[in-house]
Amino acid sequence: MSSAPRPQHPGHRSASPGSRVVPGGGATPALADDSSPADLSRVMADLESTVGFDSERSLDVADRVETLARRLGEETLVWRARVVRADVLERQGALAESASLLWRAHAWAVEVGERLLQARTLSLLSWTSRDAGDLATYLEHAVAAVELLDADAPGSVRSTHLRRLADALHETGSGAAAYERYLEAEQIAADVGDVPQQLSALNNLAYRLSTAGDADGAWAVIERLGALSDTHGVPLRSSTLDTIARIQVQRGRFVDAEATARRAVAIYRAGADCKESDLLAQLLVTHAVTRRHLGDLVGARHAVDESRGLCDEHGLGSVLPVVLEEESEVFAAAGDFESAWRTYRAFHAAERAQLDDQRERRARLRQTLFETAEARRRADVFRDEARRDALTGLHNRRYVDEELQGLVDASRAGGPGVVVGLVDLDHFKRVNDTCSHEVGDHVLRQVARLLEDAVASPGDGCGRGGFAARIGGEEFLVVLTGTGTGEALHRFEGLRAAVAGHDWRGLTGDVPVTVSIGVARAGRDSRSGLLRRADERLYEAKRAGRDRVVVGPGGDAGPET
Ligand code: GH3
Ligand code: MG
Ligand code: MG
Repeated sequence: MSSAPRPQHPGHRSASPGSRVVPGGGATPALADDSSPADLSRVMADLESTVGFDSERSLDVADRVETLARRLGEETLVWRARVVRADVLERQGALAESASLLWRAHAWAVEVGERLLQARTLSLLSWTSRDAGDLATYLEHAVAAVELLDADAPGSVRSTHLRRLADALHETGSGAAAYERYLEAEQIAADVGDVPQQLSALNNLAYRLSTAGDADGAWAVIERLGALSDTHGVPLRSSTLDTIARIQVQRGRFVDAEATARRAVAIYRAGADCKESDLLAQLLVTHAVTRRHLGDLVGARHAVDESRGLCDEHGLGSVLPVVLEEESEVFAAAGDFESAWRTYRAFHAAERAQLDDQRERRARLRQTLFETAEARRRADVFRDEARRDALTGLHNRRYVDEELQGLVDASRAGGPGVVVGLVDLDHFKRVNDTCSHEVGDHVLRQVARLLEDAVASPGDGCGRGGFAARIGGEEFLVVLTGTGTGEALHRFEGLRAAVAGHDWRGLTGDVPVTVSIGVARAGRDSRSGLLRRADERLYEAKRAGRDRVVVGPGGDAGPET
């Protein structure tokens, strides 16, 4: 069954796991024009603990509070409202915008000595760091947030930050330390009678134990969750029921699990809980898992279909892999192995797309963080990262767009000549279909290395150079500068032969790997004209039987006119 982490921080699309169970408050009171600072503060406290449940509404309320607070001259409230906006932005994936707002809020909070707001901004920035793939800073900020709160900070707030610290500890590999903090967070919430916070701490603990494979430990925690909810008459949230259902499945309690998962979906549909559609998509997958284990394949299929519909409708790229993985399981359970295999491949593709997407966003985020706050000397590193292709490490289309015109202009002004080769893998679909998409990816990486070799050789330090880029799925561009047409052709022919002659057997078996190359030399036309000519010749190479290099009429790589 699925081992993918299910986000329990509703509405959060950018990153991973079960770290954001925020306890719910009641309905927000209407905000009258003459609301007092105390009214606004109450509304903010409620909003701060429920922001993930309904992003759109949270934004509306935060904007309204900000307007009223500004009118009253309540600066702290103004900044608290802005921090809620930053929180929503981060959940919606606008990481850079969120981070820059959070740093401003943090600077303000430090300046005036608002420790609670400092803790909150650091806590949110810790997620930004996690999203940016910087785990050390993630942990550092989570620790700092807890350290900012002394014993007289409100228990609920201390409990929240401790739970988040526990999340950070667990995700950075300190399981035992994390479990202790979850229990401490629960105890502090119990001391102040904050049952929802207690439930959140226990939910995250159970979730972590179960994903770490400690089914017995997780089981003990969910029993406590149930008892606590019964004793205090506080209903469990749908995300907590989801955790419980998964653990029941782990324990083989399929009938109970199905009932729990069904209840989670019903609570969501009743509308009193989190309203973000990615949570419903998750809940439906869990429901499908439980139904499948009970042998109710029609029911499982139904739940998976609905979940997939939500992914399509709302663009839930982060949930899609989990949905496809379960869909594949349902096909397999029904004995339809062909569909299972097809769906399984779609699952892999979705997972890869998610990783690529994440990497893109990280690169962008780091660049922005850097530009707003850090010394500029490392700008080139980040700039470069945003212009690299995630799969192969080659330059990407953005880089080509930025660089090629300059080279073409320079060549026209009498600088080094420019020759481009558009390289496309032949019958690449066959590699994917016969072997697998993963093998296809390996092939793309290996071809990228051969392209780099072709660009690198033979250097004589006299203005020769160039670069290789991946500009489409299985399409590359090699740009050579400072080489005559004859030598360029020689090198492209060498590249073609290097690909055809490479020992692919270990990777693709009997399926050959070759490339076709269309070559063009920069002349009086523009960058796009140059690429168009190369593309026409690539097409000719394909038509003429593939595995070949095609240049202009009469062996000329130059412009036709
Ligand atoms: P042709 O010789 O005419 O170019 O045939 P082809 O099969 O290479 O061309 P086509 O453009 O029809 O198919 C390209 C294939 O490349 C389809 C797509 O699945 C695959 N592809 C695109 N990007 C990736 C990728 O990132 N990884 C893998 N494994 N495959 C990819
Ligand atoms: Mg191709
Ligand atoms: Mg192609």
